[in-house]
Amino acid sequence: MSRFIPLSIPNFAGNEKKYITDAIEQGWVSTGGAYITSLEQNLGRYMNCHRLAACQSGTAALHLALLECGVMPGDMVIVPTLTFIAAVNPVRYQFAEPVFMDCDDSLCMDPMKLEEFCREECRVDGDKLIHNQSGKHIKAVIVVHVFGNMADMESIMDTAGRYSLKVVEDATEALGTRYTEGKYAGRYAGTIGDFGAYSFNGNKIITTGGGGAVMAKSEQMVEHIRFLSTQAKTDPHYYVHDEIGYNYRMTNLQAALGVAQLEELPGFIETKHRLYGKYKELFENYEYGKLLAFRERVYSNKWFFSLEIPMEKLACGMRTIITGLEAEGIQTRAVWGLIHEQKPYREALAYKIEKAKFYSERILNIPCSTQLTEDDVCYAAGKIKDAIEKMAV
Ligand SMILES: *Cc1c(COP(=O)(O)O)cnc(C)c1O
Repeated sequence: MSRFIPLSIPNFAGNEKKYITDAIEQGWVSTGGAYITSLEQNLGRYMNCHRLAACQSGTAALHLALLECGVMPGDMVIVPTLTFIAAVNPVRYQFAEPVFMDCDDSLCMDPMKLEEFCREECRVDGDKLIHNQSGKHIKAVIVVHVFGNMADMESIMDTAGRYSLKVVEDATEALGTRYTEGKYAGRYAGTIGDFGAYSFNGNKIITTGGGGAVMAKSEQMVEHIRFLSTQAKTDPHYYVHDEIGYNYRMTNLQAALGVAQLEELPGFIETKHRLYGKYKELFENYEYGKLLAFRERVYSNKWFFSLEIPMEKLACGMRTIITGLEAEGIQTRAVWGLIHEQKPYREALAYKIEKAKFYSERILNIPCSTQLTEDDVCYAAGKIKDAIEKMAV
C-alpha cells in the first residue's frame, strides 16, 4: 500500500466531539451560547489580551478591523503582495485602494521599504499620511505574519507611529507566535498593532471549521466590532438599526470546536517544533533546498515549513515538482501567486517589488501536519529530495 503524507490537516484528538455534542444537546448552535464566550475568554487568557471578539472567519475579522479603522472608499491601505489574497480583499470590500509592498527574507513585509515608501512617496499632513501622486489618505497597513513567522513589528510599529498609520496585524497564520525578547517580549502576534485578525479555518493551526477572531485596541472598539458582526441591532427588543451591520458572528457550534482545539494548541506547537527540527536536520547543507528559518527572539508557532529551492539548478518549474510528489503521495504546495499580479489588482500601485517575486518562484511548502511522525518526515524529505534531484541539471 502506498503511503500518503498530507500537507496540513486538522487534528481532533481532544474534547472536540464532547463539546460539540454538548452544544447540540443544549440547543445552542447559532450565534449565541456559552462556548462563544468561553472561546473569547480562553483566547484572551492564552494571549494575555482580552480585547477580542470571535467571528465567522479570518476574512471577516480583517473586514471588521478595517471597518473599525475607519477605512472608507477612496482611502489607501498598504498591504503585502506575497500573501493569501484574503488579506487584501477586505480593502476592496471597503472600496479602498491597496498599495502593494515587498517582503524581506522572512517573507513578511519589508520594514525598510515600508519606511522608504512613507518617506519618499508620501507627506504627513497633520495626523494624516497623504500619498503624493494620488492625494489619497493612507489610513492603515496590513501586516501578515507569514506562515507563523513574526513580521518585524518593532520597526513596523515605529514607522507606523511616525507616519500616523493604523496597524492591522493579519495573525491568521500565527496564533501562538510571540516575542520572547526585546521591546515586545511576551506580546503575541496580533496583540501589538491597533488590530489583530485570527483564523480558525481548516488548515490553520487550530480550526473551528471556519472561524476567526478580531483583537482591538480598546474594549469599546471590541464592543462595536461585536455589534457590527451581529447585524448592528441597537435595541434589545425591537429591530432598530443605526448602522450597517454584518452577519459575521461566530456560532456556538464553531466555538465548541474552538474551545477543544485551543486546549491542544500548546501541544500542536510543540509537535510543529519537533517536526521542523527533524526537517532542519535532514536538509542541513543540502545543495538543492534550504529550510527557511523563523525570526530570532521569537517563539513561533512554526505553522508552515518553507523549503527554498534554487530553481536555476533545475530543468523544470515548481509545478513539475509538486505534481511529481503528488503522484508519490506527498502533498506539497507552491507559495501564493503575487497579489499585485492577480487580475483584480493589476492596476493597483506596487512599490519596488523584488524579493516577493524571487521567493514566489522558489518556495515549496512541505508536509507539516501535527499527526506526522518523525518517520513520516524522513520519508517525505527523502521523496522530496528524489523529486528535486531527478530534475537537477
Ligand atoms: C487563512 C488566511 C486568511 C483568511 O482566513 P479565513 O478564516 O480563511 O477567512 C487571511 N489571511 C491569511 C494570510 C491567511 O492565511
